[in-house]
Amino acid sequence: MYFPDMSPYSYGTWYREQSIAFQEVRTIGWLKQGFTYSKGKVGDRFLQKLQQMYQSPRVHIRGMRGYHQCDLCDPSLANKDQQSASSPQQIWRGSSELWIPSSMSSQLIYAAPSMIRHYIIAHEYRPPDEFIQSVQEFDLNSDWDGEEMYSQLLEQYRDRMRRGEKRF
Ligand SMILES: [Zn+2]
Repeated sequence: MYFPDMSPYSYGTWYREQSIAFQEVRTIGWLKQGFTYSKGKVGDRFLQKLQQMYQSPRVHIRGMRGYHQCDLCDPSLANKDQQSASSPQQIWRGSSELWIPSSMSSQLIYAAPSMIRHYIIAHEYRPPDEFIQSVQEFDLNSDWDGEEMYSQLLEQYRDRMRRGEKRF
């Protein structure tokens, strides 16, 4: 699944047949073969902190939603059904996401596929500065709960659409 960095999050969020895009949640690192992305170095401090965030079930969430596979490693995967692709070689994949509050704004959240660390290390991907800063400043002991945030947003948006408010 490809989303440009900083797009409103709309991965699998539906109300009846309408897609919902969470304006508060911005996608980071949803790369795909054939789409350009920003490259550059990131610091060790950022990578270490990012790694720690995978250990937190309040940041590293939603493990049951199918696979993301790295079609940058193997372009032949790009047009295959994600579920059916199989290969004797190692396929980089992830099935979950990191949900991280922005350090710029209490109204902003970043959602990255768990593959983001692989993209950074193997494919030189460089996330936006504000994401890097937010990871570095995130307090692992905070009461942030990304899973709960996802559930709340989905319920709020569905409720607004049910009441016939504007589409998202
Ligand atoms: Zn790869």
